[in-house]
Amino acid sequence: AKQRGKAGFARYVEGMGEPVLAHMQLGGELWRALGDNEFRVVYQPILRLDDNWVVGVEALVRWHHPNRGVVLPAEFIPAAERTGLIVPLGRFVLRETCRQAAAWSSEFGADALQEAALNVSARQLHDPDFVSDVTAALVDSGLPCEQLVVEVTESAVLRGQQVSRTLFELDGMGIRLSLDDFGTGESSLSLLRAFPAAIVKLDKSFVDGIEIDDGQAAAADARQAVARAVIQLARAFGLDTIAEGIESAEQAAVLRELGYTRGQGYHLARPMDADGVSRLLARQQTM
Ligand code: C2E
Ligand code: CA
Ligand code: CA
Ligand code: CA
Repeated sequence: AKQRGKAGFARYVEGMGEPVLAHMQLGGELWRALGDNEFRVVYQPILRLDDNWVVGVEALVRWHHPNRGVVLPAEFIPAAERTGLIVPLGRFVLRETCRQAAAWSSEFGADALQEAALNVSARQLHDPDFVSDVTAALVDSGLPCEQLVVEVTESAVLRGQQVSRTLFELDGMGIRLSLDDFGTGESSLSLLRAFPAAIVKLDKSFVDGIEIDDGQAAAADARQAVARAVIQLARAFGLDTIAEGIESAEQAAVLRELGYTRGQGYHLARPMDADGVSRLLARQQTM
């Protein structure tokens, strides 16, 4: 059902009726890939919307398969979560991101990047060793806690006591929590009261079409209303905001007007390898 014709990999992991054998093959492949060091981390810059200054990055994992080329997370994260591979894979992304962010700090100064954000699955938050893994990654890399951001989704957060304990411990260490895909869940509001979030990320689905202004713009109006409501909530709770999935200058302008100060999206910067971020930071240093 997907356009990735060459190896038919997407076929295995998409849809409901996945053949058990394909499952097992993908699961096994993922463990092999981790052992063979085929995962890489790319970084999508987070920018200030008023002057396009890079203030942070979000780490995103990629699988460099020897035959299939670069495989995106949508094709393997669900299987990694099912098989438990997400725990060691997430640990790899954590360590790599901390190491890289610390390297950027020492090359470009401690203020060059305010935040390096990681995506963390429910399964990782359930792992009783997660907090000590994070501590070890910070200690080993020398990255200050304040620079690390852990992005969680609503469905991951609402998973009971162990997860809740983990989130409060991270917060207690000075690590900021970011509510990813904000507004798409059913209890976004109560989440803000129950968890020590520092940042909310307005989901891309509210950014798509937010700029449309042509008389039949009811959908765009609704998105603007959500975007405005999220800003007001964030202010009420003292949280920072990031708008994600910004694909045009018009969208950036509308969001800026609504009060968003920071954003991410293809219009601003695509995910890139660490060298790409280094070039951006080097250029900023001369400005
Ligand atoms: P996410 O956390 O919501 O990340 C944003 C996704 O949107 C990324 O896709 C990014 O490349 C893409 N994106 C950014 N700007 C734009 C834009 O302007 N337009 C469009 N159409 N897309 C944009 P990616 O890298 O394929 O990641 C997909 C999802 O996989 C992520 O969604 C996240 O939930 C998950 N993921 C990625 N890396 C990791 C990881 O290391 N661990 C875990 N647990 N999940 C990860
Ligand atoms: Ca994210
Ligand atoms: Ca997101
Ligand atoms: Ca998303």
